[in-house]
Amino acid sequence: MPCFKCGARQTDPARGASPWRRGVLRDHQVLVCPSCQVVHDWAADLDHCAACGSPALICRLGEVECRDCGHVRDAERDSDELVASTAPGLSEDVAQALDRVLKSARR
Ligand SMILES: [Zn+2]
Ligand SMILES: [Zn+2]
Repeated sequence: MPCFKCGARQTDPARGASPWRRGVLRDHQVLVCPSCQVVHDWAADLDHCAACGSPALICRLGEVECRDCGHVRDAERDSDELVASTAPGLSEDVAQALDRVLKSARR
């Protein structure tokens, strides 16, 4: 996963913890590279915990969990996208089309 700011690719550190930071942006997991962490107010662009305001969030399986306080919330925007992708009114159109077919078949 590249840096969400500059698109830099993550390289595995030789040892120790990765200097990259994880965050959540619009309910999607993102990574911030070390240079963007110092150059930008990177956390301002990310989602924040509703309970404690921390940007240290992780996103998984439709949930966003705060690594600071453990607060968990649903990743609502993901489910919104799912609802939007099933075109509203489609079933109505299908029902009307079926109705027309059935009526013409009876004639
Ligand atoms: Zn970056
Ligand atoms: Zn929190």
